[in-house]
Amino acid sequence: MRIGVIGTGYVGLVTGACLAELGHEVCCIDNDRAKVDRLLAGDCPIYEPDLPALIARNRMAGRLSFSSNTADGVTSSDVVFIAVGTPPGADGEADLSFVHAAARDIAGHLRGFTLVATKSTVPVGTGDDVEAILAAHAPDVETAVVSNPEFLREGCAIGDFLKPDRIVVGAETSRARAMMEAVYRPLTARGHPLLACDRRTAELIKYASNAFLAVKISYINEIADLCENIGADALCVAEGMGLDARIGARFLQPGPGYGGSCFPKDTQALLATARRADTTLSVVAAAETANRRRKRNLAARVADATGDLTDKVVAVLGLAFKAGTDDMREAAALDLIPGLQARGAIVRASDPEAIDAARTTMPGAAFFRDAYAAAQGADVLVVLTEWPAYASLDLERIRRVMRGHRVIDFRNLFAPDAVVDAGLDYVSLGRPACRRSIGAHGHGAPVNDRMQPALQSPDMD
Ligand code: NAD
Repeated sequence: MRIGVIGTGYVGLVTGACLAELGHEVCCIDNDRAKVDRLLAGDCPIYEPDLPALIARNRMAGRLSFSSNTADGVTSSDVVFIAVGTPPGADGEADLSFVHAAARDIAGHLRGFTLVATKSTVPVGTGDDVEAILAAHAPDVETAVVSNPEFLREGCAIGDFLKPDRIVVGAETSRARAMMEAVYRPLTARGHPLLACDRRTAELIKYASNAFLAVKISYINEIADLCENIGADALCVAEGMGLDARIGARFLQPGPGYGGSCFPKDTQALLATARRADTTLSVVAAAETANRRRKRNLAARVADATGDLTDKVVAVLGLAFKAGTDDMREAAALDLIPGLQARGAIVRASDPEAIDAARTTMPGAAFFRDAYAAAQGADVLVVLTEWPAYASLDLERIRRVMRGHRVIDFRNLFAPDAVVDAGLDYVSLGRPACRRSIGAHGHGAPVNDRMQPALQSPDMD
């Protein structure tokens, strides 16, 4: 099929490249000319594993093209996907201005029957808006509008798109539904399920899914807090819970609080939808509040574990909101680093991919691509993003380059024994804090911070 994709961000670019990989002829459109120029020059404007090779292969095969002219992606397309941003607007409502503008752009270039599929995450009823815009601006052209929410995760987006748990299609007519089934036939033929439903239901499935995952994360984070206060091991609690097939092990890792371009804004947008519909979603509201509080308290947690931070050097490993991406939207670093600086700390930050994105948002921090360089002379080392490379750091080398001895791990990346054996104090989430081994490679003595405040002593190692 001939397909246009409007928006070449994290979702649009992956969608376009993957649909081309499935054999369709795809033209990706972006109104950011600089982005299109980079794509035309063979450069990939975002970090997403394996995406550059996928793009190159499909361009070579003549199935994938880029343009900043909307007509190129619309005029001769059977299906046009809208994959533009839906950032948070006033009162947590999704800002639909980009979706509406894209619909108007599309309408201006329609020729014959065209299916418009909304892949952006949009509140219930947005499909009706898109339909109305198309009807108003292209009254003589027949169109149909479907909802086709996207569930990919940054960092493993290609695998998620090509091996989806489910494809959701919200269509109001059998013709529209049949066209979407044709788009995804290469995937359904391999056994990936396509759930067809009405458009409003499809729109809600996306929000209900993201909000559920947000609840799961906030839940395990609060259980981890409880573990710290009563002397239980949150990782083992999570494992014990996750072995129950009704619960499942995924999204049960304590962390610094969820971030990224989806969960924070989607929970808020769902709450806004509920408010408008006069419906109480108290569970989602509680998860959202807990997450906000958790991120706001990150710097205080560091101070609690280390004492006065004035003029102390804090190395922060990880800036992106999660591993595998350069995306800084709603990243925990945006709360932690200014919070540390407000307490007088000097911040040295590192990330394998996100430094360019971070630099503009965090003035005053020094940035290093190399983790050991960031740790140089640090009093405290904080692990914030779960990059696999951090899990295999040489901890003895870290201890040698640091001035202090304290590691605060907001991702539970390390085995406590390995940290204390390297001569470092270790504070992680939902597990007792551990003191470094002195001399022999014995095990560190576990210390529960709240029961024994020794680790909180203000004199920093
Ligand atoms: P993004 O900000 O990375 O990309 C959006 C792109 O659309 C930008 O390149 C922008 O220049 C372009 N654009 C905006 N208006 C345009 C127009 N009228 N014509 C052409 N191009 C236009 O956003 P994203 O992260 O790709 O997210 C897109 C949507 O997908 C959002 O609704 C988001 O909630 C949803 N989503 C995102 C993810 C994710 O992991 N990022 C996952 C699932 C769903």
